[in-house]
Amino acid sequence: MKVAIIGAGFSGMLAAYLLEKEGIDVTVYEKQEYLGGHCRTIASINENIELGTTVLFSKSIKELLIELQIDYTERFIYRNYIDDNYNNVEHMLSDEISLLIEELNRLRVILDRYTPILQGTNYGNIHKDLLVPLKTFLKNNNLNIVHHVIEPYLSSFGFGNIEDVQAYYAFKTFNINTIYTFIQGKKLLFIKKGTTELIHKLSKKVSDIRLSLEVTNIDIKDNKVIVDTIYNSESFDKVLIATKLPIGVIKNQFYNKFMEKVITNPFISCAFEVTNKKLTTTYYKTNLGKKGKIQCFHTSRHNHKTILVAYAYGIANNKIIDNITNDLCHTGIDIKRLITVKQWDIFPHVENKKLTEDFYEELFNRQKDSNMRLIGSLISKPELGNLYLSVNEIVKELT
Ligand SMILES: Cc1cc2nc3c(=O)[nH]c(=O)nc-3n(C[C@H](O)[C@H](O)[C@H](O)COP(=O)(O)OP(=O)(O)OC[C@H]3O[C@@H](n4cnc5c(N)ncnc54)[C@H](O)[C@@H]3O)c2cc1C
Repeated sequence: MKVAIIGAGFSGMLAAYLLEKEGIDVTVYEKQEYLGGHCRTIASINENIELGTTVLFSKSIKELLIELQIDYTERFIYRNYIDDNYNNVEHMLSDEISLLIEELNRLRVILDRYTPILQGTNYGNIHKDLLVPLKTFLKNNNLNIVHHVIEPYLSSFGFGNIEDVQAYYAFKTFNINTIYTFIQGKKLLFIKKGTTELIHKLSKKVSDIRLSLEVTNIDIKDNKVIVDTIYNSESFDKVLIATKLPIGVIKNQFYNKFMEKVITNPFISCAFEVTNKKLTTTYYKTNLGKKGKIQCFHTSRHNHKTILVAYAYGIANNKIIDNITNDLCHTGIDIKRLITVKQWDIFPHVENKKLTEDFYEELFNRQKDSNMRLIGSLISKPELGNLYLSVNEIVKELT
């Protein structure tokens, strides 16, 4: 069997690695001249800057790092919150804590009703109660403190404004146990040389990777999949699509309609060198989910330098960089230089009005006997630990 994989992000590269381990021929197409997609470390002698994925959570990812002999550390993240006057504030007020415990107990009971829907690795059937904005869901169930707890994590992860994200996506990503870990604190995994090392280690086991080759056309003819770039055309038995593609690339009405409905949020990360030495990961409470505004920043030290990476919603331009710079200056940060700005499109999802109860079910039914399959963050929550499980499931089905 010959399999084409579109997109050399974590999902595509993991699929390629696992399939080659099973002796299946794989060709990976990547439109950029580098691998990794949203996993992107800029590494030089003096700096090591994580622009996309930074922390990893799951047991399965830890096992993968061990299998690939990748050095990692495990550490706590200490978090700081800032109000509209740039003063440090608590994530929650102390008298809210007992209310939070009561709300979390109630939330557990509420979410139990939807267990079969929320449990699976991939998106699937959706209950109509979860087809509302998260804010409405929390308000209707009188869960006001839960709102404060999860908002910083949702908005800094690229989900956007809590008013826009559906309850379904939020609770698929942040289940009750995850919410508890925010409060309890939990050690997180960091790859010493950055997430790009993970991608490169996967790529070493993959024999056919095509870089700077954007796929422009995917069609099925005589039960074969034809994959075109502007330079050539090749035939495969199956194709795994690990990225949102522009309308018209897939010559199939159903998949095109799917791509038409899936949207992403423009999100940027920008890296600065700053003179401050000790800075804690900080969330800007008044900016959460707002376009053009810094959501949070984290820092790391390299060769006596402090590198600060800040995240904001929107399309990279001078105004956003000015907004970020002003907010950082008001926070007491002394910026030495701007190192880089990176534009992302994050979290493929369907907007409120267009998401239906059977949206993903219909897709999975179509995919069963098709030689085209969508994988990765198109069908599963966009966190590496979960993408690992999702891609593994699909590879097992294929082999
Ligand atoms: C700023 C930021 C911080 C994040 N932090 C974390 C974190 O700390 N922990 C975590 O678990 N997750 C984090 N995430 C989310 C995580 O990075 C993504 O969910 C994950 O990397 C998605 O991987 P993927 O392979 O599914 O898709 P992608 O990384 O989007 O890969 C898709 C690839 O397809 C390529 N492509 C697109 N079109 C074509 C075409 N026509 N032909 C060929 N190739 C094409 C793209 O160039 C890209 O390389 C973060 C994301 C961002 C943006």
